[in-house]
Amino acid sequence: MSSYDRFPEEVLFLKDAARQVAERGLGPLVRDVDEKGEFSHEVVAVLREAGWLGMGVSAAWGGVDSDVSAFVVVMEEVSKVFPTAASILAPHWFASKMVSRFAEGPWVAPLLDRVVNGQVLGALAATEPDAGSDLASVSTTAQRDGGEWVINGSKRFITNGGFADFYVVLTRTDGNREGGLSMFLVEADRPGIKIGRLEKKMGLRASATAEIFFDDLRVEADHLIGEQGSGFKQASKALVEGRVMVASISLGIAQGCLEHAIAYARERKQFGRPIGEFQGIQFMLANMAIETAAARSLTCDAAVAVQSDAPDAGMRAAIAKTFASDAAMSVSTNAVQVLGGVGYTSDFPVEMLMRDAKIQQIYEGTNEIQRTIIAKRLLGRPSGKAS
Ligand SMILES: Cc1cc2nc3c(=O)[nH]c(=O)nc-3n(C[C@H](O)[C@H](O)[C@H](O)COP(=O)(O)OP(=O)(O)OC[C@H]3O[C@@H](n4cnc5c(N)ncnc54)[C@H](O)[C@@H]3O)c2cc1C
Repeated sequence: MSSYDRFPEEVLFLKDAARQVAERGLGPLVRDVDEKGEFSHEVVAVLREAGWLGMGVSAAWGGVDSDVSAFVVVMEEVSKVFPTAASILAPHWFASKMVSRFAEGPWVAPLLDRVVNGQVLGALAATEPDAGSDLASVSTTAQRDGGEWVINGSKRFITNGGFADFYVVLTRTDGNREGGLSMFLVEADRPGIKIGRLEKKMGLRASATAEIFFDDLRVEADHLIGEQGSGFKQASKALVEGRVMVASISLGIAQGCLEHAIAYARERKQFGRPIGEFQGIQFMLANMAIETAAARSLTCDAAVAVQSDAPDAGMRAAIAKTFASDAAMSVSTNAVQVLGGVGYTSDFPVEMLMRDAKIQQIYEGTNEIQRTIIAKRLLGRPSGKAS
């Protein structure tokens, strides 16, 4: 039984459509934009054209209430071809979901209308120089001043930073560790926001990863997303879904690498026969298939758990994220090995997929943090970790 048998039928149609968009729309761009190493508007245009920028908006705001499985299949198909594109989508979905679920105020409907129409890009600004895995130590402050909030501080590693139209920003509104955090919507054109350095990265090279500074940035009181002090709780819940997204990106990387390795093993001849006839290569391919299949099962399991709000959804998402990203790293490394010298060149996509696999073990909560979440659940204590 395929793991996808647990997904609704319309999601399987979406998977086919996503494969075509990824192959025909993104495929021809990949080599150039990855080499260029700059944020790619062309990639965003493909995502917009496919209608994927609006997927995070609920039906109540004019969206479609996409099932978690719909995000999974889009992420997998996109990541088989170009994981950078998936990494642009993930924080955009996160930010639009946060607004869609928790925000109130006259600005919400016009913003989400633009999201649904693919006219704007969002970002999540949570990480800071001194608040990475320990997100509860965020020190960017938001202080109430009459009918406004004043935000001061800095953020680091923000995907889509400098190119997003709106940011969901995690701030400290009082001294309570987790209960003192609140989320705000900050439009990119507010005075007081400054984009700093864009990171030079090993992978995800056509996405922007930026420093952001807030200097007496003012937003109206209704830009607080949800209740004051609920930011950590909201982020933790959304990050559970985010981990299923990273598992799906990882799954796509593994599947893509497996397919490239099989094709090459059939074609490439040494010692007078295809290298796929050597047992050393066969065992490598078989192990890659085993890891990919297991990653798919765990990712589908986590998607179903999150969609149905299962009590152990957090642990199942952490298991899927950890296993699938470790599998992506291992399968992509072996794909480079199967291709030999050409695998190490940019003539084949496996070297890019290997570079893009590494970050999946790091963001959305490192795999060490995932293991602490799993262990805490096993030992009967709530995890309490947002990252
Ligand atoms: C390309 C990229 C894109 C990103 N996009 C975003 C984004 O859009 N928005 C955003 O807010 N953030 C983003 N991030 C930040 C990302 O989520 C963090 O880098 C990640 O959570 C790890 O934090 P850190 O880098 O500060 O590492 P640290 O927390 O400093 O960790 C360093 C090492 O210590 C380990 N460690 C830490 N604590 C523990 C512990 N308790 N037990 C065991 N080991 C531990 C970690 O696993 C890691 O190996 C992005 C990062 C990158 C590189």
